[in-house]
Amino acid sequence: MSMSLAAETPSRAITEPYRTRRTFAIISHPDAGKTTLTERLLAAAGAIQSAGAVRGKAGTRSTRSDWMEMEQQRGISITSSVMTFDYDGLTLNLLDTPGHSDFSEDTYRTLTAVDAAIMVIDAAKGIEAQTLKLFEVCRLRDIPIITFINKVDREGLSPLELIDEIQGKLALDLTPVLWPIGQGVDFHGYLDLLEKRVLSPQGKPIAEYNAIEDLLDNDALIEDPVFMTALETLEMATAMLPPFDLETFHAGHLSPVLFGSALKGIGVAELLRTLGEWGPEPRPQPAIPAPIEPADKKVTGFVFKVQANMDANHRDRIAFVRLCSGTFTRGMRLKNVRSGKDMAVSNPMFFFGNDRELAEQAVAGDIVGIPNHGTLSVGDTLTEGATINVTGIPNFAPEIIRRVRLTDHMKTKQMAKALSDLSEEGVTQVFRRVVGADWIVGVVGQLQLEVLSSRVAKEYGVPITFESLNYEVARWIESDDPKELERFIAAQKMNIAEDRTGSPVFLAQNAWWADRAKQDFPKIRFLTTKERH
Ligand code: GDP
Repeated sequence: MSMSLAAETPSRAITEPYRTRRTFAIISHPDAGKTTLTERLLAAAGAIQSAGAVRGKAGTRSTRSDWMEMEQQRGISITSSVMTFDYDGLTLNLLDTPGHSDFSEDTYRTLTAVDAAIMVIDAAKGIEAQTLKLFEVCRLRDIPIITFINKVDREGLSPLELIDEIQGKLALDLTPVLWPIGQGVDFHGYLDLLEKRVLSPQGKPIAEYNAIEDLLDNDALIEDPVFMTALETLEMATAMLPPFDLETFHAGHLSPVLFGSALKGIGVAELLRTLGEWGPEPRPQPAIPAPIEPADKKVTGFVFKVQANMDANHRDRIAFVRLCSGTFTRGMRLKNVRSGKDMAVSNPMFFFGNDRELAEQAVAGDIVGIPNHGTLSVGDTLTEGATINVTGIPNFAPEIIRRVRLTDHMKTKQMAKALSDLSEEGVTQVFRRVVGADWIVGVVGQLQLEVLSSRVAKEYGVPITFESLNYEVARWIESDDPKELERFIAAQKMNIAEDRTGSPVFLAQNAWWADRAKQDFPKIRFLTTKERH
């Protein structure tokens, strides 16, 4: 029996601070255990004092999260935030992604701001719909993924079945790091293949080895049939799986896999260690005219999320900026490339769950919150003056199109403000038809509509409802021939709207009409996504 795992650990002789950053997200299907794992990770890193309480840098305590009412009712994560914590000389930035499929747009944008992801899979369920979707988003950018197979304390699929399923459905190579000894009531501990030891179910080391066959001399272990089965399956797994290779992992083609239980705290310390030792440093950011290297001296960053009214007491709007290069210091002037305007960033913030603190200095990989009054939108690039545009942060064509109905007409102005704020946040897209004064919203999922009406009512005091429109399809329209575009707009006047930035959008009754327009106007491009700048 042979078992080798190249324990290549990158050297910690780090000179540039950005190289200590690990910026990541957790992706999973609802109920797989993301929330539980997040709490456990924070606890294992010492950033949390007890479940439900996060400690800020200043040592203050606050409840972990003021989940929105709706989230409590539905038991899903809608809010999205950043949790920054220290671990083993590193700074970890965990970006929370909403788990519900209706929020894939928001999640997508958050995933453009991470360098790695932890994929949580329920051992009883294997790959589920939302896992697959999120994985595909990660694959678009070749984001390295660490796989955490959760709930080994319960009966589930066997490790080999799970590996087979993941490899089959995701076409992703795996390499085991933590191997379970039994599952459910028969969970007898686990093998830590990186540290070469056997651990009890409670995580206590009970045996060490150089080569795995050394363990066959351990009478206590070999008397346990569950242990022997685990060794056999591990041998089968290692025979068919590639050994760990840091470069292949960083290229997004090989995923270290750990079996554990977030609820019981099994494998969580090892997960943190895997992320710390192997997790990638900040990666180059795709941009025009050229990718931004994290080692570049000049500061660049981009807005991947805007959240209004995070704190009911301060009607504020925070733009979450992922830094891509340079050393940002408080008070620095940065240019918003989209608007061409300069701004002095005097109150940048770091987030620790719900706590925030002034960010005096930040480097590539860090997430800085910038309070603003609507000057920053999702997709905006910030630079020290250079004209650089980060790419790959799209708007998606809405699948549900509704007219907004206001019950109290005295509140038109507040409604316009609310819709405009929330569209900048990316909660909805807002369209105005060229003809008529309707406010039209477009979303990708039904739940997004509910969040929209609840937030407009709660945060702006404006009750709204939605009305069906005779449209099912929205497409941004473009052409290299401006005359042709004009001709199309004139021909379709009633069905043309403008988005928030003034770009023309064609609204069609259904796919058939959209297709027909395409055939009639071959020089027009009908786009399902639009870059946000
Ligand atoms: P999320 O929807 O992915 O955030 O999942 P949660 O963390 O809320 O967990 C969903 C459910 O699974 C909750 O009832 C958790 O207590 C339970 N759960 C999470 N991790 C484990 C685990 O390791 N073992 C068991 N048995 N249950 C777990």
